[in-house]
Formats: sequence, structure tokens, C-alpha cells
Amino acid sequence: MGLPDAELADPTSISGSLRCSICTDVYWDPVFCGGTPCQHIFCRDCIEKALERRLRCPLCGLEMQPEQLMPSLIVQNLLDELMVRCKHLALGCIWQGCLQDRCEHERGCLVLANHAFLEENQQLRAENQRLKAENQKLREVNLENQQDLSKISTQLRQLQVPDNRVNIFCKNFSGRTYVFQVSLNEKVAELKQCISKKFDLEPELFKVMYRLRPLPENSVLKAQGLQSESEVSVCITSQMKTLAQLSPAKDKRP
Ligand SMILES: [Zn+2]
Ligand SMILES: [Zn+2]
Ligand SMILES: [Zn+2]
Repeated sequence: MGLPDAELADPTSISGSLRCSICTDVYWDPVFCGGTPCQHIFCRDCIEKALERRLRCPLCGLEMQPEQLMPSLIVQNLLDELMVRCKHLALGCIWQGCLQDRCEHERGCLVLANHAFLEENQQLRAENQRLKAENQKLREVNLENQQDLSKISTQLRQLQVPDNRVNIFCKNFSGRTYVFQVSLNEKVAELKQCISKKFDLEPELFKVMYRLRPLPENSVLKAQGLQSESEVSVCITSQMKTLAQLSPAKDKRP
């Protein structure tokens, strides 16, 4: 492959002697077969490919070896003077100059640099867009998780309610045992109220005892060491009431 016509400032003005007979483009890296009578010139790429098929000059048929190929400095000098365009013409660069100056121009080609900048900008925008979408997805997942969590904790609370109801056995002053359903998380006062109702007894007239120890009314049953199936007893604190007065209504009947 040679120098394409599209990269020449004026392709029509090029002499046929500067074109490769294999690719018909202007020579690129022109070489000839040194040390043989054949002096035909080709692009290095073009003749190397041709020699892979047949070790002879494609024009005169003389024998030719790849290691015999030598740069044609005279033709290269002529090429260096050719007026060419920047390779990035398609991106909008209008630079024209000698082929030998083109490399230097392309190293600092502002159109190319601007294009690279725009491309990078576009990539960053796309990346930004992707991160935003990902962020949005994570927010949604987070919201779902929070909803699940609150659902689960609601279910858990509902499940815990029946577990909290425990049976406390209460021995009254006459030695009879009654069962009270209360929560271990409730205060002693709560149990006391149940007992007060059941025995029709003013709360200030008695104490609730557990293991021979009065339970403080503002404490929680669990904190006092009570467990499900614990047995408490009622202790009368007033000297004024008689046992008969304190008995539950149904117990008074014969
Ligand atoms: Zn060629
Ligand atoms: Zn030849
Ligand atoms: Zn340029």
C-alpha cells in the first residue's frame, strides 16, 4: 500500500514515475533490488508481499530476494517534496505541506487533539450517565430493603406478642393457687392489678412476694427474676382486714 491520492494536495499533478506498479499509489517507503540489473522500484510492503508468492521482479521477471531490497533514496527525496494533506482531513484539518513536514504537524495537530478531547469528554459523559443509573438502582434497592426490614420487624413484633404472655401462679392468703396471664415485660404493678381484681382486694392492702421477697411495684417482672410458670404469693399488709373479708367472693360461699 502506497500514499493514497486522498492525502495528496493535487493528485493529478503527480508524475507516473512516482507511482508503484503494484498498488498504483504514490510510493510509500520505496525500495529496489540492489546488486541486480533490475532497477524497478516498488513500495516496500507491496514487493515483500509479491515476493512471498514468487521470488522474481513483477515487472521484468529477474530473480529477486527479500534481503536484497534497498531503500531508494533518490525517489524518497522526491517524495519528501510532495505537497500532501494532514491525515486527519476527515476530522476537519485543512493543513497542507511537504510530506517531510507532515509527521511534525501531526504530532501537534490541534484538530486531532481537539477530537481526542471531545471523544474523552463523550466517554466521561457516558460513564457519568452509567454511574447515575447505577446510583438510582442502588437507591431503589436500598428503599426496597428498608421496606422489607420494616415489614419483617412488624411481623416479628406480631410474633413476639403471644410469646410474651406467660402464666404466673399466684397463691392467695388462704393457700389457693390461681393462674394469671401477664407479660414478663410488664411491671409488677400490672400483676398486682390483676390480683386486685380477681380477689376484690384494694392494691394498698397487699404485697406480691416472690421467693419470700416483696416485688417492687415499679419494676418489671422479668427484671425480678420471674420466668414463665413462676409462682408468686400474696402477702396482706393491713392488720385491719380479716381473712374473711379478703377471700374472693366465690370462696365465701359454702
Ligand atoms: Zn505499492
Ligand atoms: Zn525488474
Ligand atoms: Zn492536522
